[in-house]
Parts: sequence; structure tokens; C-alpha cells
Amino acid sequence: MKHRVRFSGHLIFIGFGSITRATLPLLLRQDHVPVNQITVIAPVIEKNIWFKERGICFVRKALTEHTFTQTLDRFIKPGDFIVNLSVEVSSLALMTYAFGKGALYLDTCIEPWAGGYDDPSLDLSHRTNYALRYQMLGLRKKLGHGPTAVVAHGANPGLITHLLKAGLVELAVQLNHRLPQNREGVDWARLCMETGIKVIHFAERDTQRSSRLKQDDEFVNTWSVEGLISEGHQPAELGWGTHERTWPTSARRHRFGSRNAIYLERPSATVPVKTWTPLGGPCLGLMITHHETASTADLLTLKDQQKLIYRPTLHYAYHPCNDALLSIHELIGRDWQSQQQQRILNGEIDSIGADALGVLLMGHELNAYWFGSVLTIDEARALLPFNNATSLQVAAGVLSGIVWAVENPDRGIVEPEHMDYERVLEVARPYLGTLVGKQTDWRPTGAVHTCSLDGAADDWQFEHFTRF
Ligand code: NAD
Repeated sequence: MKHRVRFSGHLIFIGFGSITRATLPLLLRQDHVPVNQITVIAPVIEKNIWFKERGICFVRKALTEHTFTQTLDRFIKPGDFIVNLSVEVSSLALMTYAFGKGALYLDTCIEPWAGGYDDPSLDLSHRTNYALRYQMLGLRKKLGHGPTAVVAHGANPGLITHLLKAGLVELAVQLNHRLPQNREGVDWARLCMETGIKVIHFAERDTQRSSRLKQDDEFVNTWSVEGLISEGHQPAELGWGTHERTWPTSARRHRFGSRNAIYLERPSATVPVKTWTPLGGPCLGLMITHHETASTADLLTLKDQQKLIYRPTLHYAYHPCNDALLSIHELIGRDWQSQQQQRILNGEIDSIGADALGVLLMGHELNAYWFGSVLTIDEARALLPFNNATSLQVAAGVLSGIVWAVENPDRGIVEPEHMDYERVLEVARPYLGTLVGKQTDWRPTGAVHTCSLDGAADDWQFEHFTRF
């Protein structure tokens, strides 16, 4: 993989959690990044000897709404790069700050200040990722051109959008569909419609586990516990397909923005949904809410003037590692009172398991097609220290987003949908294990695939994915 531009500024990481720890060793491998110019700012700094020995500086400090500019002013100059991998630090505030300073920026989700996800003064519609994204789009309009700020660019959100485009192209080729030579010329919504796709899951299954089992009153996960609890407690969200005939119970429309996505009046971690990945086939995932639900709903909506022509139903379907599922179960049972203990699995993961993260494209002539990354824990460990399979997929998204921003430094606020997917995947590819494209006859009704597509069209109704 070639980096086209050498970065000479200062890289400031906010947060020193599982993803910063996973990303730093990856960055240190890139010979074009000046190691002695990396600083980490976080309120808690532990087990950092390996990183200090390699020249990384640490500042023990929490960024807060009222003091973050003073803290950052000590470090940030024009041309520097802020990488926000924290929880409870506002992405919009940091983006605005970076813009004013002439610095580049990247985050892996749109994070509000502490309490923002659960703010009791907000109605449910305003607690969604759709609403957070709407604020970001407003800021993008206000700021206009300027230093690049890549938003929501980890694995998912992030790489999943690039995998979606690559998967659509793979499927189109298998269906003998003609594609423009230059992929920038692809109309993704039209391609999606013409390939006959009705439903898309961002389908992830994590089979990593430790022989040290989850204890009572403990939340275990392979990445941020706080991050998973926050998004699991937000309302479930989905892009609502034009083929749907039955309005889901508790579904609501937003009263602002593009209205390409809807939400359910239920915490997203309480919505089970049948899905499929190449790791073990069918499984029951959770419809955890994510930024990409709203951003790809915009990408894949086709309109003629104002008239809606086509949109697939789309959302995240996540089977986290078994102990995370048990942790969510326990958390919901205790009415969302957080467990006393948290544990992010890493070195203790048994030499077994993997993370499969990809897109499941459904309802076309080949029935269903999964495309994405299958990375085993052993592969992740062999590549880099401080990583499990999940964190390395995220770190690959962070690295490729940083490289893309450095190569395209004046694009203002950018979502994954507006980046060059081939370039991003080229950078991320060495860290994604096996890229799998797999056809499957699975469908949520359990019916075996027959040639009669028309008769089976109803199999792809949303209600079938949530009926047990
Ligand atoms: P983590 O919980 O392991 O770490 C969070 C870090 O934020 C900690 O170091 C904590 O000390 C720090 N922090 C908390 N309050 C802070 C403050 N006020 N100022 C500065 N730092 C503060 O989380 P993680 O697993 O490393 O994830 C980091 C972020 O990335 C989260 O927002 C998470 O949701 C997101 N994420 C995105 C993806 C993706 O694929 N897009 C995947 C995993 C995680």
C-alpha cells in the first residue's frame, strides 16, 4: 500500500481506550508518520509503558465542554490532526474547533458531550443518530470548505460503507450488470435498485471468547462497554424500504431532515433481528443503532424530482460476542442500571473466534449475498499488539480515514459515503483478514430459495426478520 502524501504535523489522540491502543501500533508501522509527534489526551492513563517507550507523549486530562479549547490550544497548530477516539467528548465541538485552527479531524461516530445520548429534555426522535447526523449536516453547511474532518470512520460506521459499495459491485458483476469503468460515476441507489436488492443488513457476528467467563454484575465486550451501552439505549433506527407493506409497531417518522430513515420507540438493544453471516450462518442479531443507517439511507434513496422511487430497508444487525450478549441481557433486566464491573476482552481471548463484518444484500436473483471482512483473533494478534479482531477492523478504518484526509486535506466535513471507497479499502485491506463474498439461500422465513422470485417477494418484508 502506497501513501501518496507524507504527514508532517502533530497527531493528537483524544481518549486512550481500546481503539486508541489498537490504532497506535498500526500508525507506528507507517514510516511516513513522525512518531515523536503523537500525543494522547485522556483522563485515565494506564498500562502505557509500551507506548511511552516508543516516544508517544501522554497528557492526563478530561476534555470538558467549558475547558476543552484551553486544553487543546496548548497542542494544536494549523496542519495538525485531531483523532477523537473518546466517549463523552462532542464530535461537533471538536470539529468546529479543528476547523477554526486549520487542523484535520477524524472520529468514529458522532459523539455528544456526557449525558447527550440520554438527555431527558430531548424527545426520542432527537436522541437518534439520525438527529446527531442532522446537526453534523447543519455544521457542514455552515462551515463549508476548509480542512478535512472525516466523521464516523471506524469499521462500522466507516469501512462498512466502502464494503457496501465494493459488495454492490461484486454482486452486479455476478448478475452480469454493466458498470461504468470509473467507479466515481456509479449511481449507487440506481445500481442497488437495478440489482433487485430489497433489504440490506450491516451484518456482524463476533465469536471471540475468553475462558474467563462473564461474572454477575459485569459487562464484557470486545470494544467500548460505554459505547455499546449508549448506542444500545438509543432508539432503534432503520432506512425504510419502498417494498415494505406493513408499518412496524412503534415505528415513527422524523419531522426534520431527509426523512429517509425512521426509528422505533424501543431501545435498539431490545430489538432482535434474524440475520446471516459466513461465521456460523443464521443468527439472531440486535438492531443496534448506528450512524451508517441514516447516511446510507440517503446514499441509496432514488427520487425523481420529489417522488420517491426506491430505497432498500437497511440497518445494523449485530451479534456481539457471547459474553456481551449476556451482559446486555443482564443490563436490560436491571432496567439499564450499569453493572459495577466492566471488562474489554483482549489478551485473555482464547485462540479461537473471529469477527465477521459485512453487508448482507438480500432479495435479488441470487437470493442473498454477504460481502465483508472475516478476521480471526489469531490473524489480528499476528499482525499487531494490543488488538483483537474487532479492534483491528476499527483501527484499519481509522488509519485509512487518516490517510485519506491527509491526501485530501481541504474537503471540509466528509462522511464515508463521499470518500473514494477503492482508495480507502486499499489502505485498510492488509488488516481485514479474508475478504469474503458469499451467496446464501438463507431467508428470514426459512423458505428454501426457489426460482420463483415474484412469489417469494414477501419473504423480504421487515416483519419476517422480527417474527419468531
Ligand atoms: P473505550 O471506552 O475503551 O475508551 C474511551 C476513552 O475515552 C477512555 O480512554 C476514556 O478515558 C476516554 N474519555 C472519557 N471521557 C473523556 C473526556 N472527557 N476527555 C477525554 N477522554 C475521555 O472506548 P473505545 O472502544 O476505545 O471506543 C472509542 C470510541 O470509538 C467510542 O466513541 C466508540 O463508540 C467508538 N467506536 C467506533 C467504532 C466504529 O467502528 N465506528 C468501533 C468501536 C468503537
